[in-house]
Amino acid sequence: MKHYLVAWLLTVCFVLSSSAQGNVSEKPDTIMPVRGFCIAAPQPSDLQEFVRFIDEELAPRKVNTLILRVDYNYQYESHPELRDSIALSKQEVKKLVAVCRENNIRIIPQVNLLGHQSWAGSIGNLLKAYPEFDETPQVRMPEKYVWPNADGLYCKSYCPLHPGVHDVVFGIVDEICDVFEADAFHAGMDEVFYIGEKQCPRCSGRDPAGLFAGEVRKIRDHLALKGRTLWIWGDRLIDGKTTGLGEWEASYNNTHRAVDMIPKDVIICDWHYERPDQTPVWFAMKGLSVVTCPWRMPENAVLQARDMVKFRANSTPEMKERFLGMVQTVWSGAGPFLDNYYGRRKDESKNTPVNCFKALFDEINRIQ
Ligand SMILES: [Zn+2]
Repeated sequence: MKHYLVAWLLTVCFVLSSSAQGNVSEKPDTIMPVRGFCIAAPQPSDLQEFVRFIDEELAPRKVNTLILRVDYNYQYESHPELRDSIALSKQEVKKLVAVCRENNIRIIPQVNLLGHQSWAGSIGNLLKAYPEFDETPQVRMPEKYVWPNADGLYCKSYCPLHPGVHDVVFGIVDEICDVFEADAFHAGMDEVFYIGEKQCPRCSGRDPAGLFAGEVRKIRDHLALKGRTLWIWGDRLIDGKTTGLGEWEASYNNTHRAVDMIPKDVIICDWHYERPDQTPVWFAMKGLSVVTCPWRMPENAVLQARDMVKFRANSTPEMKERFLGMVQTVWSGAGPFLDNYYGRRKDESKNTPVNCFKALFDEINRIQ
């Protein structure tokens, strides 16, 4: 009798395990649900080639998520004062929407909220048009930017407690999501160095983690009204000092406790460029879904992709679904990237976003 029971159990186990394997081969998405690419939205002059790149390079590699950093490279109608001088028209955006739809690629537009409101010595369009939103109006933009500097200026932030700021930024968030027909929005929110500054009459004395989490929740709740999901970079949610990950890749300014305060349906883009750090596990254990983002080092990207598969394979069912996949990030404009990709600009280094992208998707498609 015992033998029968053992034989029956073995049969059940065999059937279950082969059906699980069967599911994997039938549904390749279960290995790597998000296979993403993140880049600045193209300038109008690069649009045609970028559309071709989506069609001929992203689609065959089975990229299914395209995060496009749009910021003010769109001819906003709700806030024309925020447009870049050269910016995509609605008709041009619809070409991107069409090629992505044909290839089953989900577009997630990005506009930097909270931080990154300036770059080096240049102020961004939001604070140029609305200087009253500046968290640190006392910090003047330098003629020649250097880091480090006495002001601790990396990028400007807007004040999350300014009573007028959300009317403006949510206007452009809604418009950019509408024009891209998007069900998700990326708010950036990385490398926020200025938060809860003592000169700010609204924020001084407040907990930076509470301020950061409050802003995440506000954006998330606004998007949720139209059934949209919020994606953000993960660095402000990691404790830089304890982990040794430093002040860009992680937080040295006490925002990291926000990881326990933000809604669990916010998607975390966990970027690590120099090492394949294992932080996705930590985000997943906090109840947050996560993608790993490499940049320019092919060997790390391959290791990170293997880790992502391993995390999914070795986790409980509750944890597994939070390990969403990989997003290749490109931090140049689309134009310079395409120059490099199509060989018009040579880069002899092996550590380039082009090489990293190719190696990452070779690995993902090999695993699939
Ligand atoms: Zn403030």
